Amino acid sequence: MSGRFTRTNSMAQPSSLQVVKDFERASSPLRVFVDAKKKINGIFHGLYTHIEDSRKFMKSDATGDADIITTEEKEKIDGFSDQVDCIAEILARDNMKVAFFGRTSNGKSTVVNAMMRDKVLPTGIGHTTDCFLSVEASNLDEAYIITPDSEEKKSIQSVNQIAHALSSENLNDQSSMVRVFWPKTRCHLLQNDVVLMDSPGVDVTTGLDEWIDKYCMDADVFVLVSNAESTLMRTEKGFFHKVSEKLSKPNIFILNNRWDAAASEPEFMDAVKQQHLERAVDFLVNELKVVTAQQAEDRIFFVSAKEVLQARIQKQQGMPESGGALAEGFQARLFEFENFERKFEECISKSAVITKFEQHGRQGQQITQEIQALMESVYERAARKRASCIEKRKEKGDLLDHITKQLTILTTECKDKIKDISEQAEYKISSAMTEEIRRLHILVDQFDRPFHPDPLVIKVYKEELQKFLEEGLGRNLDARCSSTVLQSLEQTQTQMTEHMSALLPEERQSQMSSLIFRRDFDLSYRLDCRHLCADFKENIQFQFSLGLTAMMNKFLGPKGTRVALTGFTSMMPRHLPPPGPATGTNQSSPDEDVAVAMVSGLASLYSRTSVGLIFIGGIIWKSVGWRILAVAGGMYGGIYMYERLTWTNKAKERTFKRQFVDYSAEKLQLVVNFTSANCSHQIQQELSTTFARLCQEVDTAKEALNKEIVVLDAEKNKLEKLMNDSKLLRNRANWLESELMRFIRQYLGNED
Ligand code: GDP
Repeated sequence: MSGRFTRTNSMAQPSSLQVVKDFERASSPLRVFVDAKKKINGIFHGLYTHIEDSRKFMKSDATGDADIITTEEKEKIDGFSDQVDCIAEILARDNMKVAFFGRTSNGKSTVVNAMMRDKVLPTGIGHTTDCFLSVEASNLDEAYIITPDSEEKKSIQSVNQIAHALSSENLNDQSSMVRVFWPKTRCHLLQNDVVLMDSPGVDVTTGLDEWIDKYCMDADVFVLVSNAESTLMRTEKGFFHKVSEKLSKPNIFILNNRWDAAASEPEFMDAVKQQHLERAVDFLVNELKVVTAQQAEDRIFFVSAKEVLQARIQKQQGMPESGGALAEGFQARLFEFENFERKFEECISKSAVITKFEQHGRQGQQITQEIQALMESVYERAARKRASCIEKRKEKGDLLDHITKQLTILTTECKDKIKDISEQAEYKISSAMTEEIRRLHILVDQFDRPFHPDPLVIKVYKEELQKFLEEGLGRNLDARCSSTVLQSLEQTQTQMTEHMSALLPEERQSQMSSLIFRRDFDLSYRLDCRHLCADFKENIQFQFSLGLTAMMNKFLGPKGTRVALTGFTSMMPRHLPPPGPATGTNQSSPDEDVAVAMVSGLASLYSRTSVGLIFIGGIIWKSVGWRILAVAGGMYGGIYMYERLTWTNKAKERTFKRQFVDYSAEKLQLVVNFTSANCSHQIQQELSTTFARLCQEVDTAKEALNKEIVVLDAEKNKLEKLMNDSKLLRNRANWLESELMRFIRQYLGNED
């Protein structure tokens, strides 16, 4: 046995056999399961990748910021991920499982070997299988076993070693499992993901329920190996009753083994076969109700596993398969066995596709539908948010345009208004100042500080008068102009604020007036009278009104007199002054020049000798007489005396004040334009400042709007990306669903 096993293990296969094997592999109905498995694994791999992409998408910053996806949805996708991961793992592991049951020594192991076309499992008396044995595919070139007590791979060179291992291992527990890993290259069943499971005889155990729960729930096909020499026993039937209670309509094949024995009694063969067949059909159809009477015929076979195994081994060794001591009717039994194999392959493949893939396929379909619905709702939420974002963006953009245009218009209006108000204020202040200058004497008269001609006292008096004048003038101007000017200033400020506030957001509008108005603003006239009148020189020397100087003053004016009396007549300009207004006191008028010319004549007369005077006196004396002259002299003296006596401090004060009024009026007249322009400038400044602050507020509002627009643009882009991504994921889920539907249609025969 060992030699045969070793020989059969030889990898040197005839090439013609290899071709047959390849053909078998390619044409085997098992390919349906293998192809379906490959296909569904591919789909689930795609689904898993898709779910991972969906998870990444749902956990991305973009979705988080946009507040598009709920925690429940994220958890749902996480759940899908776990679910699909688990399914994909099961699918990758899934294979077709056939379990062999029957009484001890009915030939279960021999059937497995015949199907494996090799002596894989030990058979015969002394090698009773006391535990479950599964034959699974190995990618290695050597066979090995894994026993339940360890994970160690124990290398097996021959079937005897398996038998030895099984007997030496502590395998008293009938429900334990020893896994035999067989190189898949040696058997097309293993290559096509079939796992074959041998069991201890159903007649030697009481723990059938445990068996079923442990090893039968995932079995796609059950093969009841019965002995053709005897009828179906209660223990065998009892086991399958239990199986069909736990599994809905299990796929059961009945192999009436050892049919070669019937060849020795050909006269009873047909009758025995008919009897076995009827009982088996009755068992499947009426007792278990797992197939119809018609289907049952494809589930019951009369075979000789021993012969088939022997023939196949011979064939592999290059010998004729019908050689050796084979009973009569071998070819028919071989054909029956092959027929069984084909029906079995069709059945297991179809059944396994349904049991292994249908539920998962539909689960996958449901997951893809839920992902589609989820992505659809994400898309819709993002689309709605995008629409409102675009609307907001448009509102903000329109508002920004409106503000920009309005600001341009208001800037022109405000500038014109500021100009108007400033000009009005200038005119008003100029008029008020002219009026005040005209009424300057009243103000000066109100100054009541005691006057004394002492130069030191006068100095102080003068300073205080200047101060009084400055304050008084300021006060009067204030009373005349300030309130109206400030009122119109405030009105303009209010108007500007109102107009500009309309361009600001509501919450800012209410704060505007308190922010903009400078309540402490007051007009400053800056009448620096002390400086203006610093050069004022009073003349409070007694002057006889009929004296020569007074007379000259009367005729020539104070300047002409001064010039004449100082004797600079020769230095006086004789030519006419250049045209244009007089700008200073040093320039004399043409009238004054004529007068100066006259006086210079008189002065020269006066300054010549008293001879002249005597001569004139003589003439008057002679013409009017001495009495009249005496009376005139007396009167002249009297007037002189009167004036001399009335030249009191009061008179001096009056003269001082009059001189001061004349002087300061002249000086103030010169600064009227300057002062009014200065005040106008202050108003312009104040209004411009207010306007600038308002503009600044509007600019801030514009800047805030611009920032909002940038944020909205970014949000819109983000939402568009979200929409694209969710659409893509939805389409991919849709594609996966159609793939699953195609799979179900192709392999499971319906779409629902
Ligand atoms: P198991 O206990 O059900 O696994 O039975 P085995 O496969 O170990 O077979 C028990 C004995 O029956 C072995 O000696 C086999 O050679 C023999 N046997 C199996 N199948 C056949 C068959 O079809 N015809 C004959 N004549 N003997 C068989």
